[in-house]
Amino acid sequence: MKSEITGHTRLAALFAKPARHSISPVMHNLSFAHHDIDAIYLAFDVEPENLKDSIQSIRSFDMLGVNLSMPHKMAVIPYLDELSSAAELIGAVNTIVNKEGKLIGYNTDGIGFMRGLKDIAVEIKNKRITVIGAGGAATAIICQAALDGVSHIDVFNRKDEFYGKIQEKLAYIAEKTGCRITLQELTKESELVDSVKNSALLVNATGVGMSPNESQSPIEDFSILRSDLAVYDVIYNPRQTLLLKKAQESGAKTANGLSMLIHQGAAAFELWTEKHMPLEIIKPIVEKL
Ligand code: NAP
Repeated sequence: MKSEITGHTRLAALFAKPARHSISPVMHNLSFAHHDIDAIYLAFDVEPENLKDSIQSIRSFDMLGVNLSMPHKMAVIPYLDELSSAAELIGAVNTIVNKEGKLIGYNTDGIGFMRGLKDIAVEIKNKRITVIGAGGAATAIICQAALDGVSHIDVFNRKDEFYGKIQEKLAYIAEKTGCRITLQELTKESELVDSVKNSALLVNATGVGMSPNESQSPIEDFSILRSDLAVYDVIYNPRQTLLLKKAQESGAKTANGLSMLIHQGAAAFELWTEKHMPLEIIKPIVEKL
């Protein structure tokens, strides 16, 4: 944001429910100010029944674009004019760019994850990885990893009524990307052990271990962790989950979900402004929030 809001100031926003707790306004307003861009970013609580009108307001108010979070990431798709290949594959949108009234949906969550791995110097191209969880965060991670050349992804999830749908979705992603993707039940311990043994990276893409349940972990047998198995946890509260603590004790490279959160925002900022988010300024501030 420039020091003064004028008649020319453009608006970017978060549409979510709840939206007010988000760190996105801090990240984007600092970045607009850094680049002297005449724009502001606000967070709006948008109820599902108001989503269609809210999306139309992007055109009506000539907004730069918006970020979307739960519960709108999938529901927004019918209101958009175009989807990026990743957003189409994932089936969810977290960023909309307003290109002269044409609304283009992107998903930068997976990009955020891949950049988070780069920060800790972990390369997974042509390698096998293990992902626990198959929800929204997992799907974005799996799609981007597959698009970026990971050869083999083993997904483990609880067997519930959605298991068949997950299977279909993963088969679609595998077909579109050429990545080998398997789905197995999380209770199948020997399969999990075997997968992790052959993987370069283990990802927790569930909320297991998140505050206030900090004593929980998506795996129980920590002996499968080792120094050359990188471990990524999408959780950022707490910064160090039990899984990450155990992985660090085994000498592994680790990262928490804060890097994914920051980098998904940075990728959205690039789409709106064609400029880089000043991460050297943003990271230390966001880490303290
Ligand atoms: P979601 O769509 O509801 O998916 C949750 C996933 O976790 C599902 O696969 C679910 O399995 C699994 N799960 C939930 N409880 C479990 C349990 N007790 N044991 C085993 N598996 C369990 O949620 P999401 O949006 O993917 O979010 C998942 C986590 O990622 C949350 O902690 C969220 O805060 C975090 N997240 C982080 C970022 C980031 O930028 N760092 C971005 C998005 C989300 P079922 O299918 O069996 O329910």
